[in-house]
Amino acid sequence: MPERLFVCTPSKLGTYADCPRRYRYSYVDGPSPPKGPPWAHNSLGASVHTALRNWYALPADRRRPEALAGLLRGTWVREGYRDDEQERSAYRRALGWLESYVATLEPDADPLGVERVVAVKTAVLAFNGRADRIDSRPGPDGPELVIVDYKTGRTGLDADDARGSQALALYAYAAERTFRRPCRRVELHHLPTGTVAGHDHTVESLARQVTRAEETARDIMAAERAVADGSDPDEAFPTTPGPKCGWCDYRRTCPAGAQTPGKDPWAAVDRAADATPGG
Ligand code: SF4
Repeated sequence: MPERLFVCTPSKLGTYADCPRRYRYSYVDGPSPPKGPPWAHNSLGASVHTALRNWYALPADRRRPEALAGLLRGTWVREGYRDDEQERSAYRRALGWLESYVATLEPDADPLGVERVVAVKTAVLAFNGRADRIDSRPGPDGPELVIVDYKTGRTGLDADDARGSQALALYAYAAERTFRRPCRRVELHHLPTGTVAGHDHTVESLARQVTRAEETARDIMAAERAVADGSDPDEAFPTTPGPKCGWCDYRRTCPAGAQTPGKDPWAAVDRAADATPGG
């Protein structure tokens, strides 16, 4: 019998790479254990992403900075903030990011895709994912595709982040096959600083990232098989405690997480906080 393909998104693979136990809580256990309260930084990231999606849904002649406040208000997610004051300050900051960002865009240039799903099958994976944006830009031999990922976390990003991102590489690999056009460039657009961290992949570097993703998928399938064959699920999906546990949705369920002080849901949007997950 041929092995079944492992159906996955970048976040599924990333969750296992981050912590196998978190993967088990999210994708294996049924029902999943209860999550902690919603995070303000996730609300902020989702609000900004949706506002940008809706920006491109406007006819080109209505893509004006004055439209942004209405777009952001319409998509604003309120959960997780400490109080109204913090939420209002986050809204103002996000609006400022959007205003600066759209000033860098060509108002009538339409991307090839906005929140576009791309999918590809390999010998091991049935991959699908939703890219924030896919641009088509002129290249030496005709149009080339570029994967654009918006970031709203407080930490700046550099070319190494773009080069090392498995998610971006998988999007590029899948986009190239979905649209039958070269897609080697990946970019992280960090809205709080207005910076772009980019990397130009090669066929080989994309293939390496796909191989790594396949290795992760094989590890996950082996752990799932072990549990199905009677192994202890706690051993098949071990904990990997670290500072990230403070931000983990399953900290209250996980024995390792219970040892780590939890972060307040609004900590990553609080300017006084000293660590933040990416957004
Ligand atoms: S609390 Fe830490 S060890 Fe436990 S599942 Fe979450 S990230 Fe993994």
